[in-house]
Amino acid sequence: MSGTVRMTRKVTFSSGHRYWINDLDEIQNRELFGRWASRYNHGHNYVLDVTVEGLVDASTGMVVNIKRVDDALKAHILSQFDQKSINDEIPAFASQSSSLENLIQYIAEVLSHPGVLPTGANLTNLRLEEMPRLFAELDLSKTSDMITLTRTYEFAASHRLHSPALSDAENIELFGKCNNKAGHGHNYLLEVSVTGTPDPRTGMLADIGEVDRVVNELVVDRYDHKNLNEDIPEFDNRTTTSEVVSIEIFNRLKDHLPAKLQRIRLHETARNIFEVSAP
Ligand SMILES: [Zn+2]
Ligand SMILES: [Zn+2]
Repeated sequence: MSGTVRMTRKVTFSSGHRYWINDLDEIQNRELFGRWASRYNHGHNYVLDVTVEGLVDASTGMVVNIKRVDDALKAHILSQFDQKSINDEIPAFASQSSSLENLIQYIAEVLSHPGVLPTGANLTNLRLEEMPRLFAELDLSKTSDMITLTRTYEFAASHRLHSPALSDAENIELFGKCNNKAGHGHNYLLEVSVTGTPDPRTGMLADIGEVDRVVNELVVDRYDHKNLNEDIPEFDNRTTTSEVVSIEIFNRLKDHLPAKLQRIRLHETARNIFEVSAP
């Protein structure tokens, strides 16, 4: 793999869309999309990350001229999406749902056509953010579970790093300020990523409302404004490092979500991030 580099170009576009398929009637649309159904558009400021991989050219020192990648994105993606109504102006979405999962697959298809991206730049990953707390990712190196949907949550909790297996002096030596008897706190950010095959009719791999309900019930509402060491039984006699908390959150969620849990990421602070993935 020597000489292979991945690079990511980020672009943004604003589009209107709706959970309503033009080719279906009102009853069918309401049955399919439930509370999301509307014959009128809403809109998003989408953020698209395009990752390409290739060998570094010995003469230019580049995988590919990133300007050429940018030109391709302008010509093939932004021209279709930016300031447009997806359902009305992109023919592929007249008869299929403009879900985030379908949008990211459509963008992958467009960018995979021969000649769209510059030679030498192989598309490997896409990330499409619909809202700051909801994004999809597509990993083209995978043959199953290629698409993940990630939702971000927040909870505030206090804790004290203290290992029952160590003496008081050893705890102070190991954890320093974090061993403070009265504890300290964080605004934890929790990313929950689910994967699966999107339902061909709704284009969705999971009902986000149901993901929210489960994560809020099992984790966020349980830990928010609590002391992890004192209030939460699953941390009795355990050290509440973010490693331990992350594994606990992963295990609490894994059998209860409406789709397969692929990964959780716990941001203890903006600079300390912990990740647990499904095997
Ligand atoms: Zn939307
Ligand atoms: Zn801490």
